[in-house]
Amino acid sequence: MTYRDLLDISLENRKNSYAPYSNVTVSAALLCANGEVFKGVNVENASFGGTICAERSAIVSAVSSGIKDFKAIAISSNLDEFISPCGICRQFIHEFGSDIDVIMGDEEDYRVYKIRELLPLGFEL
Ligand SMILES: [Zn+2]
Repeated sequence: MTYRDLLDISLENRKNSYAPYSNVTVSAALLCANGEVFKGVNVENASFGGTICAERSAIVSAVSSGIKDFKAIAISSNLDEFISPCGICRQFIHEFGSDIDVIMGDEEDYRVYKIRELLPLGFEL
């Protein structure tokens, strides 16, 4: 699977976002080392602190299925600019490896970063 394919899965899945408060629909497609893809969307809540981002939603879904080895995560939104992971999600991705690729883009173009570029000196125990 190419990163363009992974991003297209993310874009297609954006329709499942639940974002009644911000109206920013975000989707993530997580490529696992075994080739499986898990999708996630942002799920907002009236109690704003209960909101979960698309990236964490996808990772939680994969881990819940027993998979913890990830190659890349593609992220898209309905904003004009490429959306990048928030700080919590950067740490959440980093938990599963500093070498994971993060793809940010839209229907036209995308960029790829290592999570260690987006979260230098990521927290580890
Ligand atoms: Zn986030």
